[in-house]
Amino acid sequence: MRKLIAGNWKMNGLTELSASLAGSLRRGADGLDCDMLVCPPATMISTVAHILVGSATMVGGQDCHAKVSGAHTGDLSAAMLRDAGASWVILGHSERRGDHGETDAEVKAKTEAAVKADLTPIVCVGETEAQRVAGEQNAVVGSQLVHSLPKEFQGVVAYEPVWAIGTGRTPSTDDVAAMHGFIRATLISHLGAAGQGVRILYGGSVKPSNAKELLHLPEVGGALIGGASLVDADFLAIAHAAQMVAEPPAAS
Ligand code: PEP
Repeated sequence: MRKLIAGNWKMNGLTELSASLAGSLRRGADGLDCDMLVCPPATMISTVAHILVGSATMVGGQDCHAKVSGAHTGDLSAAMLRDAGASWVILGHSERRGDHGETDAEVKAKTEAAVKADLTPIVCVGETEAQRVAGEQNAVVGSQLVHSLPKEFQGVVAYEPVWAIGTGRTPSTDDVAAMHGFIRATLISHLGAAGQGVRILYGGSVKPSNAKELLHLPEVGGALIGGASLVDADFLAIAHAAQMVAEPPAAS
């Protein structure tokens, strides 16, 4: 399966930075043997989508409302993201779950709304440091998956340990491999055979220096990248690492 390299710009990017990053991707990402996605702030989706139209890099949002329209001041529907030029949306990011108290049930409703609006959802799950120290990571992530994903889920899952986001720390490769194996088994038990085909991204302090070892692990179908996606050379270097993983070994 082709790797997906997805950038989450979070609340970063005025017009100048957004246009510059999008321009770099337009020039640097074509021809790479991986899928490329950037998720700018909502105000920049249209600008970025316009620059990237016809290129290899897709555009996504960072959240959407579960309802189609109505009295929800400040919110955006999935159809609005689509209309602005997005074809993907990140849902249930730990910063949304933390800052806005989003529950699994809300993430599930948003996921259903996204698919109805023809957006591919990336649903984020992951344990806190206290939960990992207590050995509760499988119980936490398993519960998030079962309660956040509709039975007919069509999309991508991102495993993002909360304690690895923006901290420069990552789990060991053994721990990432074990969690991705657990997520695969849970997806199959929750979704049936369709669970076998769901891409599972790793997210949390992915950088050019650790991308290859993380992307090479079994069941790691790509990466969701925060900080490093704001530096064009770093984001492209991670995409190149994904490509090196995808390439068959050279014949000797
Ligand atoms: C994220 O917020 O999705 C993320 C993975 O951030 P960072 O790469 O900065 O840890």
